[in-house]
Amino acid sequence: MDTSFKDLNLNPQLERALTKLGYKVPTPIQLKAIPGLLEGKDLIGIAQTGTGKTAAFVLPILHRMVEKYPRKIRTLVVAPTRELAAQIGESFTQYGEFLKFKHTVIFGGVKQGKQVQALTKGVDILVATPGRLLDLIDQRKLTLKNVDFFVLDEADRMLDMGFINDIKKIISRLPHKRQSLFFSATMSPQINKLAKSLLNNPIHVEVTPQATTVELIKQEVFFVDQKAKEQLLLKLLKHEHLTSILIFTRTKHRANKVAVFLNKNNISADAIHGNKSQNARTKAIKDFKTGKIKVLVATDIAARGIDIPEISHVINFELPNEPESYVHRIGRTARAGAKGTAFSFCAAEERSYLHSIERLIKQNIEVMDHTFHSETAKNAVGAAAKPAPKQRGSFRSKSKKSFSKKFKPKHRFKRR
Ligand code: AMP
Repeated sequence: MDTSFKDLNLNPQLERALTKLGYKVPTPIQLKAIPGLLEGKDLIGIAQTGTGKTAAFVLPILHRMVEKYPRKIRTLVVAPTRELAAQIGESFTQYGEFLKFKHTVIFGGVKQGKQVQALTKGVDILVATPGRLLDLIDQRKLTLKNVDFFVLDEADRMLDMGFINDIKKIISRLPHKRQSLFFSATMSPQINKLAKSLLNNPIHVEVTPQATTVELIKQEVFFVDQKAKEQLLLKLLKHEHLTSILIFTRTKHRANKVAVFLNKNNISADAIHGNKSQNARTKAIKDFKTGKIKVLVATDIAARGIDIPEISHVINFELPNEPESYVHRIGRTARAGAKGTAFSFCAAEERSYLHSIERLIKQNIEVMDHTFHSETAKNAVGAAAKPAPKQRGSFRSKSKKSFSKKFKPKHRFKRR
């Protein structure tokens, strides 16, 4: 029989919030993590967004914090991106609805005035991105000396984004006696070293959504020349029943271009990436969530950690150069067990990326037949299957030499 939240013996006010949210059973990471965390143990969790990991740490922390409301920062959560931090803040609001804690979220890219005001009034929980947190510590606007619970979320992404020194500085400001939780989507020697420096005899919890998530997602690849991608996109968006669509590009420039192109063609779209102001990003995500815009175009970093449960389709307008990013991207369409669809556009120069992706997910992605199908893209090998060196952008002339009649397609074609 399934374990219910009742079996975890959480504070009744937390149970009340879960009932209100309609959560019935804990997700695997919640089942594995919550009991040890309630006992006060440190934790290392290998899990991605979408597994329910936020509740896995927010619930036990709130449970352990209960009955003391000193309005001093007792819980600190550090997250790599503003969006993720905002979402974790929302989780504290939701799960803590029937408790009396105050929390606030601080991040860079916006003026600090309001954030400082909230801190001055006093909070029990602080969710922060590393840069703004250190800024405000340096300005003596906050202190970490009362922290009892520390969470480092998406540690691998923090390292990718070059936050390692910031993280070390933050850790050096924490009291020695504390409960520490460390989450990362992937494990590497560097991550392991950071975890060891932070944790004391931790419990290990690993959920591997990669395979399960991928299994739930219908994946299709469209071989297409780079210059025909926009027309293919338009055709798909106009003729298929796609409701909420997240499109990925490799570059900020391309994200903008795709959004502009769609708007010109009467499909409401907005782009999010690192060059956009925080307010513009927040607005785009809100418009997407409320259905005001149908399409959100994003780069990998910008999309990390955004929780938008209703995505029906992920479209890889450009394939990622890191195969792991493909899994992250398509995972956005199968949140918490829902089914989703992922379309990938593959031009000749992305052929090698597709090979790496198929190796990683251990399956061949079904090839779609369509008006803009490109045999050149499908059969590209050698140099033609990779982006040309030293050229920027993706509009570059394709080598006809790559076309090999001897190449035997291993994919099954699906006729529409
Ligand atoms: P996370 O991995 O924390 O980003 O959570 C992914 C999504 O799953 C969020 O939209 C949560 O609200 C939702 N969620 C988390 N835990 C549960 C649960 N036990 N039952 C149903 N939904 C959940």
